Amino acid sequence: MGAASRLLVDVSGLSELLPTTAITVRFNPQEVIEPPLQVRWTSPLLVRATVQYGGREFIVSGRVSGEAERLCSRCLSPFIWNIDVPLNAEYRRVQAAVTDAAEGPAPEVVVGPEGEYLMTGDRLDLLPVVEEALVLASPIQAYCRPDCGGLCPVCGQNLNEGACGCRVEEGDPRLSALARWLQQAGDGRPVDSR
Ligand SMILES: [Zn+2]
Ligand SMILES: [Zn+2]
Repeated sequence: MGAASRLLVDVSGLSELLPTTAITVRFNPQEVIEPPLQVRWTSPLLVRATVQYGGREFIVSGRVSGEAERLCSRCLSPFIWNIDVPLNAEYRRVQAAVTDAAEGPAPEVVVGPEGEYLMTGDRLDLLPVVEEALVLASPIQAYCRPDCGGLCPVCGQNLNEGACGCRVEEGDPRLSALARWLQQAGDGRPVDSR
């Protein structure tokens, strides 16, 4: 879909006679949506929604779904985040007081006093709504699996891949010195995964 930085939906066909339409949009979130913390976009997302005309406003309700990559909050390993997020928004058509020219980019999205999105033409932009829904749906803490063992606080080993032999509880200074030595000498590959 080119370099479009918007998800424009033409609603000019909606009227009292035909108040509802269903839309399906597949788009690539990379470069158009800032990923939530610890998330990396890896594949297209799908928006399925209905748009309902209510005189002056358009009600959008549906879902955005797809997959992204996320880092586990405990072991820092990437895992698949299955996205299936509700999408609800209201758009209100207002007079084009500050319009752009007929050519050129679409006008900036403005949010009205009740959280509704203001639109001036016949197209509404789903992008800010999708972005907000994704950010809200992304938990601050997420785990690769419910029983993720995390990383050993001493040597940094991913404990899902096996025990490391460190004895965390002991306060024996000789052990922590040993652990430090192991960390320096061992296979301490960087935890940074990208
Ligand atoms: Zn994990
Ligand atoms: Zn360890």
